[in-house]
Amino acid sequence: MPASEPMGGANARALIEVRDLRKVFSLGDVEVEALRGVSTDIAAGEFVAIMGTSGSGKSTFMNLLGCLDSPTSGTVCLAGNDLSELSSDERAELRNSEIGFVFQSYNLIPRMSAQENVELPLTYADVSLAEQRDRARRSLVAVGLADRMDHQPSQLSGGQQQRVAIARSLVNEPSLLLADEPTGNLDSRTGDEIMQTFDQLNREKGVAIVLVTHEESVARTAHRILRFRDGKIVGDEST
Ligand code: ADP
Ligand code: MG
Repeated sequence: MPASEPMGGANARALIEVRDLRKVFSLGDVEVEALRGVSTDIAAGEFVAIMGTSGSGKSTFMNLLGCLDSPTSGTVCLAGNDLSELSSDERAELRNSEIGFVFQSYNLIPRMSAQENVELPLTYADVSLAEQRDRARRSLVAVGLADRMDHQPSQLSGGQQQRVAIARSLVNEPSLLLADEPTGNLDSRTGDEIMQTFDQLNREKGVAIVLVTHEESVARTAHRILRFRDGKIVGDEST
């Protein structure tokens, strides 16, 4: 095997390496152990669903993967970077360049067009206005909204608003998309359509996706299902 094995080779490091991750929240005298020793690897380009009852630690895990919070102990390595060894500026930089987020609520700015909403993450990046516009348009095309770029959120259906949010999460061309119950507010047919969009982005752009859902049928779109219970991973299966 050549010494300079490219990404994706047998010896390549996982995109995400999680080791014995623990998170304790202190609420006054009460301590809540949200994560109690979670370890797993997620490869570049993988599509993983996370399931588990409410309160089992899914969102806490996602927030730690996404550098939105720091663990009580244990490590997360993202693209070879141990998050705990980075400064907060470096973590923010890694988050902006490598990670896209999609949530149950779409979090769009009401009086802005779909295109302006998608451009927002680029506003502080070092790209020209023309490049911002171009990237936002391509991102909206990728989620099937080529004909809705000038619409404001109130002029879009829930499914379309979630597509705008997905386009926004992709505009920096992240290697990892974190989606926490992205179909939670949608009817099952629209939810299925959104899952097809995630599946297509995963296959065509090679972006790794980690997606939380309550629904087994939604999870089946992914290639792997991690099941959480009481702050631990209790199942890890291929679909
Ligand atoms: P899930 O997303 O699986 O429903 P969470 O990760 O949101 O679960 O929560 C796991 C546990 O941690 C729950 O008991 C929850 O109440 C607690 N928890 C989550 N976030 C906080 C917080 N910011 N402060 C205190 N407790 C929290
Ligand atoms: Mg949650």
